[in-house]
Amino acid sequence: MTVASVERERAIERLRTKHHQLMHSFGFGKDGAVREAVLEVEGQLADIGAPMAECETYAASVAAALTKPTQPARFVSPCPPPGAVETEIITTLIEEAAEVIQRGTKLNRFGIEEVQPGQDLTNAQRLAHEIGDFLGMIEIALKAGIIDNNEIEVGRVRKHARFEKYRQHRPEVTP
Ligand SMILES: [Mg+2]
Repeated sequence: MTVASVERERAIERLRTKHHQLMHSFGFGKDGAVREAVLEVEGQLADIGAPMAECETYAASVAAALTKPTQPARFVSPCPPPGAVETEIITTLIEEAAEVIQRGTKLNRFGIEEVQPGQDLTNAQRLAHEIGDFLGMIEIALKAGIIDNNEIEVGRVRKHARFEKYRQHRPEVTP
C-alpha cells in the first residue's frame, strides 16, 4: 500500500467518523448548520471517491423519514357518540353528581345539622335528598342499559376496601 493510499484511507476514516457523529447529533434534521455540515462531509467523501454505500447518507435519511408512516394528527373514536336519549340521561346524572358535591361542601362548611336561613331542612337532609336524586339517575341509566349493575358492584366493593385502607380518621371505639 502506497503512502498516498494510506493517507487516503485515513482521510476517509476521519470523514466517515465525522459524518457519523453529525448524523447522530442532536441538531441533525432540525439544525440547518448541522445539515450543511453533513452535506459538506458527504461532498468531501465523494471527492475522494469513497464508497457511501455503507453510510446512512443525508438523502437516504430524508427519504426514509418521508416514507415512514406518520402518526395520525388526531384521534378519531371508533365508537359513535351517544344518542339523544343516552346523552340526556348522563347529563342529568352529571348534574345530580354536581348537586351532591355542592350539598356536601355546604355541610362541611356550615355543619351537619345546620339549617340554612330560609330553608326547612338540615344540611344532612339536603345532602341525602341530592344523593337520592343521584341514585335515581343511576337507576335510570341502568334501565336504559347505559351502565351495568355488575360493574357498579365492582366499584362499590373496591371503594369499601380502598376507603378503609386510606382513611386518616376513624370513629373512636369505646371498649
Ligand atoms: Mg338534585
